[in-house]
Amino acid sequence: MAQHTRDEVVNSMPRTGFFGHPKGLFTLMVTEFWERFSYYGMKAILVYYLYYSVKDGGFGLPDALAMQIVSIYGALIYMSGVIGGWLADRFIGTRKSIFYGAILIMIGHILLSLPNNFNLLLAALLFIILGTGLLKPNISSNVGELYHKNDPKVDAAFTLFVMSINLGAFISPLFVGWLQENVGFHAGFMVAAIGMFCGLVVYVLRAKPTLGLSGLDVPNPVTPEEKNKTIITVSIIVAIVAAYFGIGKATDSLSLASFMNVVSIVGIVLPFFYFINMFISKKATADEKARVGAYIPLFLAAVAFWSIQEQGSTVLATFADKNTQLNMGVLTNGAIDFKIPAAWFQSLNPLFIVTLAPVFAWLWVKLGRFNPPTVVKFSIALFLAALSYLIMVYPLTHGGHLMNPVWLVLSYLLVTMAELCLSPVGLATTTKLAPQAFTSQMMSVWFLANTVAQIVNAQLVNYYDSVEKYQYFSHIGLVTLAFAVVLFVISPFMKKFMRGIH
Ligand code: GLU
Ligand code: ASP
Repeated sequence: MAQHTRDEVVNSMPRTGFFGHPKGLFTLMVTEFWERFSYYGMKAILVYYLYYSVKDGGFGLPDALAMQIVSIYGALIYMSGVIGGWLADRFIGTRKSIFYGAILIMIGHILLSLPNNFNLLLAALLFIILGTGLLKPNISSNVGELYHKNDPKVDAAFTLFVMSINLGAFISPLFVGWLQENVGFHAGFMVAAIGMFCGLVVYVLRAKPTLGLSGLDVPNPVTPEEKNKTIITVSIIVAIVAAYFGIGKATDSLSLASFMNVVSIVGIVLPFFYFINMFISKKATADEKARVGAYIPLFLAAVAFWSIQEQGSTVLATFADKNTQLNMGVLTNGAIDFKIPAAWFQSLNPLFIVTLAPVFAWLWVKLGRFNPPTVVKFSIALFLAALSYLIMVYPLTHGGHLMNPVWLVLSYLLVTMAELCLSPVGLATTTKLAPQAFTSQMMSVWFLANTVAQIVNAQLVNYYDSVEKYQYFSHIGLVTLAFAVVLFVISPFMKKFMRGIH
């Protein structure tokens, strides 16, 4: 396939038409809006679907198992990006990846909208995992491909892109949550499917006229010499997976629990495999390797942060449903007769992101030379995340049976403030600390921090299930606080390893 220069690609599309940005940015933003609409809408009710009784339209699984499945599903969503990124990079380019990804995701949600069947559910999740792996990392790279490498507009483009992500994540739990409560789970999943369909239609109609040549080339195609090695590697992986399922089935030892354990091991090993590969690679200089060394504590801090953030859709979602007063009649002394759908709490984080992101961006600029370095921002993020759990201890030890939802709102607010200290800076630092030859791999590593976090969560939910709630929130809060302190203490030393990056 012909390779185009960056100039040819950038000049092949309308350069303006969307607030001074290429029209293609709008195409990608709308597509990603709908993709995240479907993802977060479905995720807002998934845990309820799993543990609600059969009579109430669910599967009646134990709470801990339900939360575990959601966590492993979330882990796989970001892990599959490794495959999606690789396929786009070496075989099909980002445009095709996004297209096929959207189709797979839509099929997954359609399957979920069909009557309950556990195997169908697993198949649906598999479709969404593979589809998201193809779409999510590649749509972000396609945004980057719309601009020259040093175009100052890129930062603004990504800010707008993140806004569209969170707008989708904000709106959909409102619809899907209401439908789940008032019509049923399958109606909620159907809306997620329709959302992805809208995204697909927009993408298909607008890609050609607005995206030009971007995403059509395969950036790093497999060379004829690499072909055999690639075929062998892929065959070995496929054989291992087939053997795992084949032997498991033959010996009757295949179970969801064992599958989740395997995913956990692979997910934890994967980022370290990437790190080791960078350390031993001849393609990275000594300075670059030092930076990778400095990245590891940041990676671990990101794991601790995403662990709490992602518990928003498992632990806190369950807490909202079972331990929070959702009856507005009780809260307002009968003034308002309305039951808040538990899934609506999932809209809080993206709502706070959309409203507070400009405030934080302004704050960092305003702080000027007092703007804290990345490591300190990470440490502040962990401190806020810890606080989001520690504040739960007070109402749990001083209140009645059901907690006032204001505390939960405050908890989501604190964790979102943490997210604003860590997520955008984390993405930027990932690109800055990446050795030149490993730029896209390093981005995969960043998303793998979320994977590892959700693998940790799959274990923590057992703890949540076995101790008093106030104990859980205080213990996890204190451990996170300890992480924050350690990171703060080592921050001056890390500076040395970052070799000029801060
Ligand atoms: N919540 C963000 C999204 O859906 C990103 C999560 C992450 O960076 O791990 O795109
Ligand atoms: N804040 C998350 C992500 O940026 C969305 C969510 O958790 O709902 O984008």
